[in-house]
Amino acid sequence: MDNTIETRCPYYKKCGGCQMQNLTYRQQLSQKQVRIIKLLGHYCHVEEIIGMENPYHYRCKVQAAFGRNHKGETVSGIYQSSTHKIVPVDSCMIEDERADEIIVCIRKLLKSFKLKPFDENNYTGFLRHVLIKKGYFSKQIMVVLVTGTVEFPQKRAFVNALLSRYPDITTVIQNINNSRTSLVLGERSIVLYGTGKIIDQLCGYNFRISPSSFYQVNPVQAAVLYKTAMDFAGLTNTERVIDAYCGTGTIGIIAADRCKEVIGVELNADAIRDARENAKNNGTHNIKFINADAGELMEEMAAEKESADCVIMDPPRAGASLKFLRSLVKLSPDKVIYISCNPDTLARDLHFLSHNGYWIEKIQPVDMFPHTSHVETVVLMTKR
Ligand code: SAH
Repeated sequence: MDNTIETRCPYYKKCGGCQMQNLTYRQQLSQKQVRIIKLLGHYCHVEEIIGMENPYHYRCKVQAAFGRNHKGETVSGIYQSSTHKIVPVDSCMIEDERADEIIVCIRKLLKSFKLKPFDENNYTGFLRHVLIKKGYFSKQIMVVLVTGTVEFPQKRAFVNALLSRYPDITTVIQNINNSRTSLVLGERSIVLYGTGKIIDQLCGYNFRISPSSFYQVNPVQAAVLYKTAMDFAGLTNTERVIDAYCGTGTIGIIAADRCKEVIGVELNADAIRDARENAKNNGTHNIKFINADAGELMEEMAAEKESADCVIMDPPRAGASLKFLRSLVKLSPDKVIYISCNPDTLARDLHFLSHNGYWIEKIQPVDMFPHTSHVETVVLMTKR
């Protein structure tokens, strides 16, 4: 495991994305461990955080903003933390290296094609962001050019120039976003090359990745995370499982081979479409996906006196809603597996569940985002 700080990034102070880069990787892991022990250690023993063997270039989803510097030159890079100021970055320590190379190439192509970067002050110009998603195991690459206009002069020549330099690009998509928003993607996408999707393998299953649906950005650690969740669930082919906040159905599809049936619930309609496709492509028949608010579905299920043996929940940073937690308690599954990307909301939700009939039995932190202050945690709860 890396124990040096020589690799410190030249953009560290300006960018603000990697808050822990002034520490060795070991120190980072131990700080994260201490944080989880402080927050949750009174419930039970906290297992040692699982770090990465090679904690660099792990991000398979890379996004760059395009704009101009004070000299009027086109720049691409990362928004400085909580601002819209672009820190020009050509190579980031945590991003996939091939993705970074492609972004630099696109910036050079802009110049030769006389295309302008987008200007957020007056909403003119062309290229606003580039989003790249790469299949870690499949090596498939998706390039999304987010543009302020639908018009894309010399579109075909531009895409061909990019493909001739990077023949490993699997698909190229133009996404149009000309609204005043801090979201990267707009609503309309036009596929310029390939199928508009890529496939990656995780835990022995194939998963389809589209521009807007959620897919874990660190696939190496995602596999560790999912394996931990499955170990905690200890499924025996007989259970009814709910995969709440299921995204593209990854966890539910893995669980389906180990239980009787799975119900996946997710708010994002694109993710649900991918989830259904993923189930089909993996030959998983004992799973059904519902496009709804997880809290609402759980409430309905509780009202209809339906049952579930195990609930696996993986909410966004805000944690679960009170509606969700209350219905979870009503549904009263024997096991709850909580996968959390935010220890503070996890602590809040565990406080509720521990006062409403659940033992907290196991806590396993996983380092999904080396060099940043984020910590992912998997918790096993059983009914008292
Ligand atoms: N378990 C998945 C996705 C986890 S990310 C995986 O590992 O890939 C959290 C997901 O929760 C996102 O896909 C997001 O769209 C979804 N989400 C956010 N709020 C939600 C809500 N209220 N109800 C259902 N899903 C929600």
